[in-house]
Amino acid sequence: MTAEPDRLLEPLERVVGKRTAEALDALGVRTVGDLVRHYPRRYAEPGRLTDLSELALGEHVAVMAQVRQATVRTMRSRGGSLMQVGVTDGTHDLQLTFFAKRSGALRSHEHRLRPGKVALFTGTVGEYRGALQLTHPDYQVIGEDVDDEAAVLVEATRPIPIYPSSAALPTWRIQRAVRTVLDTLTEADLPDPVPAEILEQRGLVSLHEALRGVHAPFADADWRRGQARLRYEEAFVLQAALARRRAIVAAEHAVARPRREGPSLLADFDARLPFTLTPGQVEVGEQVATDLERPQPMQRLLQGEVGSGKTVVALRAMLQVVDAGGQAALLAPTEVLAAQHLRSLRALLGPLAEEGLLGGAERATRVVLLTGSQSTAARREALLDAASGRAGIVVGTHALLSPSVQFAELGLVVVDEQHRFGVEQRDALRTRAGVPPHLLVMTATPIPRTVAMTVFGDLETSMLLDVPAGRPGITTHVVPADNETWMTRTWQRVREEVDAGHRVYVVCPRISPDDPAEGAATAEEGWEPAREDETGPARPAAPLRAVLEVAEELAAMPHLAGVEVGVLHGRMPPAEKDEAMARFSSGQLQVLVATTVIEVGVDVPEATVMVILDADRFGLSQLHQLRGRVGRGQAPGLCLLVSAAAEGTDAATRVRTLAETTDGFRLAGVDLELRREGDVLGASQSGGRSSLRLLRVVRHGDVIAEARQDATPLVMADPDLARWPVLQEAIGTWLDPRREEFLDRA
Ligand code: ADP
Ligand code: MG
Repeated sequence: MTAEPDRLLEPLERVVGKRTAEALDALGVRTVGDLVRHYPRRYAEPGRLTDLSELALGEHVAVMAQVRQATVRTMRSRGGSLMQVGVTDGTHDLQLTFFAKRSGALRSHEHRLRPGKVALFTGTVGEYRGALQLTHPDYQVIGEDVDDEAAVLVEATRPIPIYPSSAALPTWRIQRAVRTVLDTLTEADLPDPVPAEILEQRGLVSLHEALRGVHAPFADADWRRGQARLRYEEAFVLQAALARRRAIVAAEHAVARPRREGPSLLADFDARLPFTLTPGQVEVGEQVATDLERPQPMQRLLQGEVGSGKTVVALRAMLQVVDAGGQAALLAPTEVLAAQHLRSLRALLGPLAEEGLLGGAERATRVVLLTGSQSTAARREALLDAASGRAGIVVGTHALLSPSVQFAELGLVVVDEQHRFGVEQRDALRTRAGVPPHLLVMTATPIPRTVAMTVFGDLETSMLLDVPAGRPGITTHVVPADNETWMTRTWQRVREEVDAGHRVYVVCPRISPDDPAEGAATAEEGWEPAREDETGPARPAAPLRAVLEVAEELAAMPHLAGVEVGVLHGRMPPAEKDEAMARFSSGQLQVLVATTVIEVGVDVPEATVMVILDADRFGLSQLHQLRGRVGRGQAPGLCLLVSAAAEGTDAATRVRTLAETTDGFRLAGVDLELRREGDVLGASQSGGRSSLRLLRVVRHGDVIAEARQDATPLVMADPDLARWPVLQEAIGTWLDPRREEFLDRA
C-alpha cells in the first residue's frame, strides 16, 4: 500500500468546514472515509412529487413538491414578517411557513421559491389550525445552483440521494459534503478490498465508481450498480474473515481421539441404550466420530429440531473422547439446564457414570457438575475431579471456561444451544489450553442456510432431520385472551391432563406484576426478554401476565383444586430453581408457572400441555422452543397460545404462524422476515454502526453464496492475506473485536 489511503483518515473539518463537520460528527461520521461510506437510504426521483397525503404529524420528512404560490405579509399582532408558501403534489397541498423580523430577510426565499419551482423540502411536520405544515423547512430547489441551461436539464433529471439525516443536518448538506469530498478522491485514494479479477468475473464496478454511483448518480442504473458492488464487498469481506478463521483452525493441532477397538465405555453405552438410534443420529454420529479422529480441532455445528436427540449424539462423542483418555466438558446456557443435563447424562449412563462407587460398572467414568452457585465444598470437589482427570465429563455453564477451572486432559467441549455462545468464546476456548479441544456446538433453533453461512461460517454443519419414531406430535391452538369461555376451557384442559397423570407448563412474560419490563429479571442468566414488537401497535392495554400473580390465581381456581402449582423464574436462587425443576420432574408439582427460563432444553417427558400467556409478546423462534418442551414422551402435546393481539398485526401473524406449522425451518424463515436485520446479526444490540449496511442476510443469500465461493479459495491459497493487504485491513477495521460482536449472535 502507498501513503494514499491516508486521505480516508483525514478529519472532515478540513474538507467540509467546521459547522458541517460537527453536525456529521453527531451521526458518527468523522473522517473522509466515514463520509464516503455514509450511503443514501433511498433516492428521490426529481420529477416525482411526494404524496403529501401520507405525511404524519411529528415526522421528520423529505418531500418533493411544487410551489403553488408564496405570500409575504407583516404580522400585526407581534410584528415581524411572515412568509407562507403553498406547495402541492398535484392533489394535496402543504403549507410552509417562514418568520423573520423584517420582510427583507425573506427576500431570498421569495426569490428561490417562485411558483412552478420544484424543490425538496425537509423539516418536521407540524400542525397549524388543523392543517399540516413545515415551519422553516430546509430546501433544495431542483435545477438551482447551475448556470448553463444544459446543466440545468441534466441536474433536473438526476436521482436525488436521500441520506439518513437529522434536523441539524438536512440531507442535501450531506449530499454536498459527500460530493465535495468525492470530487477530490481518485481511484488511488480508494484502495479496493475486492481483487480486480473478482470484480471483473462478477461484472462489478470499482470502489471509486461505486461510490460515485451511490452518492452522485446520473440515473437509477448508477446507484443500483454501485449498491450491488458495495453489497458484494460487504459479503466478500465477511466471508474472507470467516474463511480465515477456518484456515487458522485447520492449521491448528488437536489431539486425535480415535474410536477404541474392543471393549469400551462407548460400546457398553450403546449396548445399554433403551432405544435404537435414528438414521440421522447414526449418520451425524459417524461424522463427529471421524472429526474426533483427526489431529485438527473439530469445529462442528449440530442442528436438530427440539427432541431430535442431540444429547445422545453429544454423549456418544464424549464417551469416545473419554475412551481415548480425554475429558469432555458440556456447557449449558443456564444453571437450570446444566443441572438437568447432569441428571439426564447420569440417567442415560446408569452404572457407567459411577466410577469408584458401589454398584458402578467395571468400566466407568465420573460425571460432575461445576457451577458458580455451588457450595464451596461441592465446587472444590468438582474442581479437583476436573483437574485430576477423575471426572470424564464435566457439566456446567460458561463459567467452566474460566481460567480458574483446570482440566487434566480436556479433549472435547460440547456447547448446548449455541445462540448464547459466540465467536469470541470459541476463540477463548482455542487459546486457553496449549492444545485446543474439539468443539461441538448444538442448536435447536433452525438456522437458514445463508444465516448459517454468515453467522456460523467458521463451523461445519450437521443436521438431525429425523425425530425419534413414535413421537406423538403436538397440536397448537390460539386462545383469544378476552374470550372467557375459551379461557375457562383452557384451565379445564389443564385439569384433565393433570388428572391423567401429566404435567403442565404455564409461561408468562413477566415475573412479578410490579416489574416494569417483562423478562428483565431473567436477564441475569442471559435469557432474552420477550421481544419488543417493532412494527406492531404499542403494548396492549391489559398489563402483561406475571408468574407470581398467575401462580396465585391458579392455586385459588376451583377447577384446579388439589393441583400443586409451582413457580420457576430467573430471580430465584439457583438451589430453589433446581428444586422446583426436580419437583416438577418427579410429579410433586403438576403445574409449573414459569418465565422463558424453560425455553431451551428442559426435558420432562410427562409434560403434555404448554399454556403461553401473552404469547404475542414472544418471538417466533422462542415460541417454537417453548412449544418443544411438551409432547416429548408417550402422550401427545398440546400448546395453547393465549393472545390478545389484534388481527393483522405482526404479533398476531407470529402466533397464527406458530399454530399453523411445526416446521422449524419455515418458522425461522418467517421469524427473520418479521424481525429487523439488526436483530438477526445483533448489530442493534451492540449499539454500534453495523459493518453490514447494504447486505441483508435474509434477502441477499445469492450474494453471500457468491462471495463465499470467491473468498474461500483466495484465503486458502494465502491464509495470511499477504497478497491482499487492503482486504486484510478491511477485515481488521470492519470486524474489529467490538464490531465482531455481530458475528456472535443469531
Ligand atoms: P434434543 O436435545 O435434540 O432436544 P434430546 O437429546 O433431549 O433432544 O432427546 C429428547 C428425548 O428423546 C430424550 O428423552 C432422549 O432420551 C430421547 N431419545 C433420543 N434419541 C432417541 C431415539 N433414537 N429413540 C427414542 N428416543 C430417543
Ligand atoms: Mg437438548
